[in-house]
Amino acid sequence: MPTRPPRPCRTCHTLGTWPTHGHCPTCNTARHRTRETRRGNRHQRGYTYEYEQARRQVLTPNSTCHWCGAPATVADHLTPLSAGGQNTPANLVPACTPCNSRRTTR
Ligand SMILES: [Zn+2]
Ligand SMILES: [Zn+2]
Repeated sequence: MPTRPPRPCRTCHTLGTWPTHGHCPTCNTARHRTRETRRGNRHQRGYTYEYEQARRQVLTPNSTCHWCGAPATVADHLTPLSAGGQNTPANLVPACTPCNSRRTTR
């Protein structure tokens, strides 16, 4: 079996025959780890079980947007989680998607 010429790892430049995307095993593992941290999961973004419970109480099929009166599709935080808001029914109001995203981006 012909041996492949060693190539430097694309991250740390260690010479070797790396089977994975031109990165040595160490760097390849590190890459996967950073990708997972960056994405985060639902829990890290604040969408916890408590949020789901509260959302179900606030967002009924007949809910209308708290801000504009359109049919509500999401539960909006009155006080954002980033500002210390809680995932409680008292802090959630039904909202339509445009109002929710407008408030989120602000
Ligand atoms: Zn490397
Ligand atoms: Zn609205």
